[in-house]
Amino acid sequence: MSIYGIEYGENSKNKFKKKNVILIIIIIIAVTALSILGGIMLAKKVNSDKELAKANIEQNENKQEAQNDNEANKIVETNSQTNTEQTNTAQTQGQSNTQTNTQQSTSSSNKNETSAQQSSSSSSNKNETSAQQSTSSSNKNQTTTQQSTSSSNKNQTTTQQSSSSSNKSQTTTQQQTQSSEQVKVTIKSPLSQTQWDALSNIYSSKQKVAYLTFDDGPSTTVTPQILDTLKKENVKATFFVLGTMVKSNPSLVKRERAEGHYIANHGYSHVYSKIYANASNAIAEYDKTNKLIQQALGDSTYEAKVFRFPGGSSGGPYDSIKTKAKKILKQNRVAYLDWNCLTNDAAGANTKDAIMKNLKSTSKGKNSLVILMHDAPNKKLTASTLPDVISYLRGQGYIFRSLEDLM
Ligand SMILES: [Zn+2]
Repeated sequence: MSIYGIEYGENSKNKFKKKNVILIIIIIIAVTALSILGGIMLAKKVNSDKELAKANIEQNENKQEAQNDNEANKIVETNSQTNTEQTNTAQTQGQSNTQTNTQQSTSSSNKNETSAQQSSSSSSNKNETSAQQSTSSSNKNQTTTQQSTSSSNKNQTTTQQSSSSSNKSQTTTQQQTQSSEQVKVTIKSPLSQTQWDALSNIYSSKQKVAYLTFDDGPSTTVTPQILDTLKKENVKATFFVLGTMVKSNPSLVKRERAEGHYIANHGYSHVYSKIYANASNAIAEYDKTNKLIQQALGDSTYEAKVFRFPGGSSGGPYDSIKTKAKKILKQNRVAYLDWNCLTNDAAGANTKDAIMKNLKSTSKGKNSLVILMHDAPNKKLTASTLPDVISYLRGQGYIFRSLEDLM
């Protein structure tokens, strides 16, 4: 019995050993398989990260190129960005002119003129060209992605999956482009072709004409004083109102209109990252502000048919979004307008002399002036300098018109 017992015990020990060895082998195989699998996945990730980085670099380079091409426009953008920052600072801290601005030199003003003129004379041809350019640049991006994918195909076996995923992203880009082209502006009576042309050719007047334009209002602290001066001087102007301000001060919009001025549209938020998140956001801000203007006026038939892009209609980091938005506006016959003359009232001109100096230098030698000014809450200097601005321009032989005179 005992021998059997021992034998039996030894047999079972051997079996136990065999079982352990098999188990250990299975574990070793499993661990090896897992680590191989992990290695493959890691390689895949590194590979797709590399591709992403490559694609990003290419895109950034393209952007840089576009920005370099548009150096002059960038100045307008920068100035306006400074404007916004300044406005925001002043609004939150209750003090104006907290920023030092070194862009008062004549040369920079001249650059502004040129760039503003270039971007605002944005007649159909220029727009189409820039739209085409942006399309070809996005094609270029796609091609680059494809190239980098195929180059990694040579090195890795796992790239087939990632290349199909990059194809997917190409398709997504195409879908996005298509959907933004399908965006429509809510407008019942768009501009006629003649009106569109008249607004597009605003800078080619033979007569000396000045269009005073006020952005970012209406505000209770500045707009009433501006309206008083305009009434006293019998001058009609254009207000590019901001949706948020219309919401706060509807009665001032009503007064502007009642006194014969044109209410144009400057979008809702003035926050670049929001309005230029994509082209349909820009259009949505236009629509929203138009509705608020109608509510303020108590007139559902009023339509602001001219839009001014916050920061200007071209250049800067959002140039391609702006180009798309301009295309949509044009398709729906809503005009957009920049400026070719400015007082720098929002970008550092903090004395009457500085305002007048900027006005004189940026109006020099031009028949048609679209003058950028602001009636945001902290622009009291703009209001108090307006009589001097009007009298200087009258002295130079200019007559005053609102944009409505071109419609
Ligand atoms: Zn603005």
